[in-house]
Amino acid sequence: TGGGAGMKPTDAELIRAAFKARSFAYTPYSHFKVGAALLAKNGMVYTGCNIENAGYTATNCAERTALFKAVSEGARDFTAIAIASNGSAPYPCGACRQMLYEFAPGLTVLVAQRDHSFVKLPLSELLTHGFGPKSLL
Ligand code: ZN
Repeated sequence: TGGGAGMKPTDAELIRAAFKARSFAYTPYSHFKVGAALLAKNGMVYTGCNIENAGYTATNCAERTALFKAVSEGARDFTAIAIASNGSAPYPCGACRQMLYEFAPGLTVLVAQRDHSFVKLPLSELLTHGFGPKSLL
């Protein structure tokens, strides 16, 4: 868990938190380290890194690590997520897009590269016509 509730971080600060989380990535197989920082509506920031496993399918992405930490601590509403890697732009995988859509279809996604330059776009652009809670009604 990152900082406490209070002042909302800027895009640059959220990206910095994602890069810090990236330093904890456990990636002995791919060596592709990713960090994420998820901003809750109340200002709390939840961070996560990717965590690989010898049984490859058990691997968890940085975005879902951050989301699971947040939800497991009672947060349900999110406004933005920053995702950081040192390689190519770490756009979220399909599973993460789906998990984020469940809680925050209006989420803003910041995809940051090594030099902290970033692309900012809505989750709805990454997951068009998403299947969410309302789809079950
Ligand atoms: Zn993912």
